[in-house]
Amino acid sequence: MIDSKGVDAGLLQTRYRLTKQRAAILRALEDGAHLTAETIHERVRAALPAVSLGTIYRTLDILRAIGLVQVFAHGGAARYEAALDKHHHLVCASCSEIVNIPAPQIAALALSIAQDHRYSGVDAALVVTGRCARCAGLARNGASTTGG
Ligand SMILES: [Zn+2]
Ligand SMILES: [Zn+2]
Repeated sequence: MIDSKGVDAGLLQTRYRLTKQRAAILRALEDGAHLTAETIHERVRAALPAVSLGTIYRTLDILRAIGLVQVFAHGGAARYEAALDKHHHLVCASCSEIVNIPAPQIAALALSIAQDHRYSGVDAALVVTGRCARCAGLARNGASTTGG
């Protein structure tokens, strides 16, 4: 299992002198989850009840600019996470679990493709979809599958 833990919000708050709102957002994301702005809003309001969703969006933009938060657009909703390193995603199509995967070889592949087309400023994001072991197990224990 690849480590998908989030960042240490307390440590980053000290290092970047984060405001209360920025720190509260990082704390909401500390467990390594990929959350929508709405879910972050709910979590942050537990600590800062007056915070609006608009403030959450603005603060997320700032945290992205600093490089403390990354956004992952999947299934129509942008999901935010507190992650410092470039990574890719493994997504379960059944339960929507999102796992971070490093996959450093993707960068080399993207660069090679881009060079063939004379592209610069290359970036690439890999999304691997499938069914996680837990969901596959549930399917096996349920109705029998047809065919082989
Ligand atoms: Zn699953
Ligand atoms: Zn991620």
